[in-house]
Amino acid sequence: MMQATDKQENPTRSGLVTAPELKRHGFFRNVFSGIKSLLEGMKVTFHYLSHPSTVVTQQYPENRATLKMMERYRALLTMIHDENGLHKCTGCQICHDNCPNASINVVTRSNPVSGKKELDRYIWRMDSCTFCNLCVQVCPFGVLKMDGSFEGAVYDRRLFVFTLNHYAGPAAGLLAKVADPEERKKMIEPRDRYSGPVPLNGQELAGVKALKKAESGCCGGSGGCCSDSQGSQGSKEMK
Ligand code: SF4
Ligand code: SF4
Repeated sequence: MMQATDKQENPTRSGLVTAPELKRHGFFRNVFSGIKSLLEGMKVTFHYLSHPSTVVTQQYPENRATLKMMERYRALLTMIHDENGLHKCTGCQICHDNCPNASINVVTRSNPVSGKKELDRYIWRMDSCTFCNLCVQVCPFGVLKMDGSFEGAVYDRRLFVFTLNHYAGPAAGLLAKVADPEERKKMIEPRDRYSGPVPLNGQELAGVKALKKAESGCCGGSGGCCSDSQGSQGSKEMK
């Protein structure tokens, strides 16, 4: 009997917490407040109706042909090649050393003509890349960029391991110094997107074999399938 009285007099002391009493508004005040909040919402709707150019929602995939991704959007690591199909990568491996999760492997070779060290294969694992952009930032020659091609879904995870360079050989600047076109030809060797050592370090992962050229359907650089914007190439090949 003593306990019950104590709870009634001081509920918090006995462990009970009571909810604060809700303020009750009048009927008309509730109606007006409802109408006011409805009009506030409709104001936004009418603004976009009368200013269609400010609408940010994209009608995808209907707008696929005209869709432009924001510049800062990162979807596909790409090696920049100039109009002659040459890159500036020296194989210095700074990007490789700075990648936080070993998604890059820069394989080098000695040039068959000059004997100098140069890029053989630039291998990038999209499946482990976090798109942090560090590799792009640390490259001293501006060789890499992040492309906005976001349609990269594939049915085979081997297609997430890319060779980014289109040829093994010296960087564009060094190649330009070779006057003899025949000798220049001997110095470079084509590389395609999927026929490299898969995955990194030339080692095969259990259950992941290197793709053969015929299997990947890659042209080896002649038909444009090894071009920079190959984000959706894999999905097309697997269909
Ligand atoms: S974006 Fe980041 S995680 Fe991806 S390859 Fe470059 S450094 Fe590595
Ligand atoms: S991409 Fe740049 S940092 Fe990486 S190996 Fe080539 S030149 Fe060096």
